[in-house]
Amino acid sequence: MAKLQIRTVGDDVLRKTCRPVEEITPRVLTLLDDMIETMRAANGVGLAAPQVGILRRIAVVEVEEGEIYELINPKIVASAGEQEGAEGCLSVPGRYGLVTRPKHVTVRALNRKGEEYEVTAHDFLARAFCHEIEHLDGKLYIDKVTRMLSEEEY
Ligand code: ZN
Repeated sequence: MAKLQIRTVGDDVLRKTCRPVEEITPRVLTLLDDMIETMRAANGVGLAAPQVGILRRIAVVEVEEGEIYELINPKIVASAGEQEGAEGCLSVPGRYGLVTRPKHVTVRALNRKGEEYEVTAHDFLARAFCHEIEHLDGKLYIDKVTRMLSEEEY
C-alpha cells in the first residue's frame, strides 16, 4: 500500500467529471487500498479518486472506524429529508462550512468483486456519501456551502 498525494482546491483535477470503471483490474484494487490508507493517514472520513488525481468513479468512506464502504461507480438512487451540518474536505484543508444535505440516501455501487450492492445511510454517513459522490462530478462542498465556519465554531 502507498500513501497518495491529496490534491487541494485550485487543482483542475478536482473540477473534472470522472469516467466509470469498466473493469475491476488489479490497478483498481491497488487504488482502493491506497485511497483507504491515504484517507486514514489524513484522518478523513472519505476520499474520492479525483482527490488523488485519478479521474475514475471510485470513492471510499469510513465514518465509523473499521466500517469501510468501497464505492465503485456509485449512484444515489433515493434520498429523503434534509439536514444541515458542518462539513470539511481533505482537499480544502483546515476549513469547515455548513451544508444542507438529504438526511437519508440510498446508494447503489459495485464492490471490489464487481458485485452490485445497495446501502441506505442516515445522518452523517448520508452526508459523507453525498459529498464523495459529488467529487466524481467535479463538485466541491464549498460550491453549495450555506456559511463557512470560523475557527471558534469548529
Ligand atoms: Zn471532499
